[in-house]
Amino acid sequence: MKISYYNGEFKRDDEISVDYNDRAFYFGDGVYEVVRVYDNEFFTLEEHMDRLVRSASEIEINGLEQEKLIEIITQLKERNSIENGSIYIQVSRGIDPRNHAYPAGAEPVVLAYMNALSRPSLQMENGVGIITANDYRWLKCHVKSLNLLANVMEKERAVRAGAHETVLHRDGVVTEGSSTNVFIVSEGVLRTHPANHLILNGITRQEVLKIAQEREIEYQEKPFTIDELKAADEVFITSTTQEVTPVSNVDGERIADGSKGKITQVIQEGFNQKIHKLNLVK
Ligand SMILES: *Cc1c(COP(=O)(O)O)cnc(C)c1O
Repeated sequence: MKISYYNGEFKRDDEISVDYNDRAFYFGDGVYEVVRVYDNEFFTLEEHMDRLVRSASEIEINGLEQEKLIEIITQLKERNSIENGSIYIQVSRGIDPRNHAYPAGAEPVVLAYMNALSRPSLQMENGVGIITANDYRWLKCHVKSLNLLANVMEKERAVRAGAHETVLHRDGVVTEGSSTNVFIVSEGVLRTHPANHLILNGITRQEVLKIAQEREIEYQEKPFTIDELKAADEVFITSTTQEVTPVSNVDGERIADGSKGKITQVIQEGFNQKIHKLNLVK
């Protein structure tokens, strides 16, 4: 039986009822994180919790205590015997009858649960297809907001096209995917959009840049266009659950010969090493 957490209490999943005045429902008024657990160990937990607190403060949900959040997800991990999984945690502004303005005195509400999840081995080997679409999201994409209407609609567009992900662009300049960051390799140089208000600065994205540095792969945090994406030697997308997934075609056009690129392979190896190190230090 799965144990989850809502508004101060751990309960069996089927015994949790959520308050319909939780502002997460009305306005998507909150922020969230997804944290990976490999062989019972958290991966980049502090980075995720830092970002959760930062996202919250960007939307003026202040005073979250990081230790309390870490305590909640540590308890979740311990109460659910799932060795390999992901933990979803969201913080909403609070519970109050529907009214746009912030409720006075409402306390933030935390929801968290854990799911079993295995690594996406097949797609990490064979790659995925992506499509491109216009990025019409708001201008605070650096906030990991619950409000994901554009993201879900654009992901659905990929599913309907038989693709894996939709990569977004503003006036032809690639920003990121609906729930992933995007990298290209051209002429041996790794490139991704700079971490500004137009993208969510993925923890996986940051790990990839660290690996590039460690392995002396030249990289630039510099935007690229849809044309550069399609002409790239290698393309991959990253996220906590997708890890480092190669892209074999964009809008039905093949990337190079369609197989996983050399630098993508090196980055994946670096990422594997970071995961394995988790369990060596036990
Ligand atoms: C969560 C997310 C990512 C990936 O971030 P990770 O920290 O690597 O999981 C990328 N883009 C968007 C829009 C996201 O919500």
